[in-house]
Amino acid sequence: TIGMLAIDAKGNISGACTTSGMAYKLHGRIGDSPIIGAGLYVDNEVGGATSTGVGEEVVRNVGSFLVVELMRQGYTPEAACKEAVMRIIKKKPEIAKNIQVGFLAINKKGEYGAYAIQQGFSYAVCNAEKQDLLIKGKSYY
Ligand code: ASP
Repeated sequence: TIGMLAIDAKGNISGACTTSGMAYKLHGRIGDSPIIGAGLYVDNEVGGATSTGVGEEVVRNVGSFLVVELMRQGYTPEAACKEAVMRIIKKKPEIAKNIQVGFLAINKKGEYGAYAIQQGFSYAVCNAEKQDLLIKGKSYY
């Protein structure tokens, strides 16, 4: 999945994502990316979130909606992403060991963060100071 979140000079937030789905997917499978609330969610009062990885686990937890709702409660973007990852791990620890799911989020202040189950999840930031800042996201494993 490629997930993008943006905030403009007026503080308006937008998001988009695109995916080819999982390799060897079943015919007719719909992953998280096309489902608003799962692979992508934006509430312009709070922030936006997007996900990558095994979409089934994101759909089960309505992951991106969860991240935005946690930010509404005061979580930082990274803490919200981490909590969404922890829900997946807590529900299915045996499966979570072997899969990747990562979340990326931005809030109304323009703060951003990410968290993934497995290492190797990095994201790029582009703003007035940095045009091409590659950040290594934190992970559970
Ligand atoms: N999230 C996508 C899916 O489950 C896979 C990906 O990360 O591209 O369809």
